[in-house]
Amino acid sequence: MLKIGCHLSNAKGYVNMMNQALDIGANTFQFFTRNPRGSRVKNIDHEDIGNFNNMMKENNFNKIVGHAPYTLNPASPDNRVLNFAYLTVEEDLSLMELMPGNFYNMHPGSHVKSGVEEGIKRVIDVLNQNMSNTMTTTILLETMSGKGSEIGRTFEELLMIIDGLNHPDKVGICLDTCHVYDGGYDIKEDLDGVLYELDKVIGIERLHAIHINDTKNPFASHKDRHEKIGDGYLGEEFFFKLINHKDLKDKIFILETPNEIEGYAAEIKLLKYNYGNIDF
Ligand code: FE
Ligand code: FE
Ligand code: ZN
Repeated sequence: MLKIGCHLSNAKGYVNMMNQALDIGANTFQFFTRNPRGSRVKNIDHEDIGNFNNMMKENNFNKIVGHAPYTLNPASPDNRVLNFAYLTVEEDLSLMELMPGNFYNMHPGSHVKSGVEEGIKRVIDVLNQNMSNTMTTTILLETMSGKGSEIGRTFEELLMIIDGLNHPDKVGICLDTCHVYDGGYDIKEDLDGVLYELDKVIGIERLHAIHINDTKNPFASHKDRHEKIGDGYLGEEFFFKLINHKDLKDKIFILETPNEIEGYAAEIKLLKYNYGNIDF
């Protein structure tokens, strides 16, 4: 079965997100662990999370993805920004443990003129300080478009982070189709080649989730502006090929397209309709 969902607002809690997901035919989803542009942690509603965990089981739901806030920059040379990163990753990982066995997705961050290697060292330390061998969450490092001084445009950079971790078994990657295409991997013309490259450098078994976004900008533009499925440079056919790829059968697909809930429902329906002939 196609594992598909979209990014949902967690403003009304976890049970609410689950109901929305079920409503639109999703069997996974993504949410921000806190206000994406702010820094405040929401008060944790344990009852809501308990009920949510029961619904996960009852509905045989796939793993879900908690996304770190955009303000997180564990590669930053600025102490205030870096301290916020230590605190955020710590709090977010303990939140995620309330829903055991899911994914925590983060952008590796930007080195802001301090150099890729220095930036990567800081990311490694933020993670090593906060990961443990008892954690059940898998951290996903997201592939980035390379705008500004973003780390994670290349598979090699993500591997450098993974290689520095004390618990590499608890880390994987999330491939964002808009980001990699903007970043200079021609996933549209050569999907097999890009997946081969990913497998060679990082290992395809580390790939757990795929952000399916079309892009507003042409190949290698390093821009990162998401577009609705079929309305951008990647195009509908590409996404049908992607979800049906033999090496991606067990991956989780998450839409982060510029949509309201109705738009997401339509995209999920479209993708399901164009998925195999076995399950639908
Ligand atoms: Fe992201
Ligand atoms: Fe993404
Ligand atoms: Zn993006």
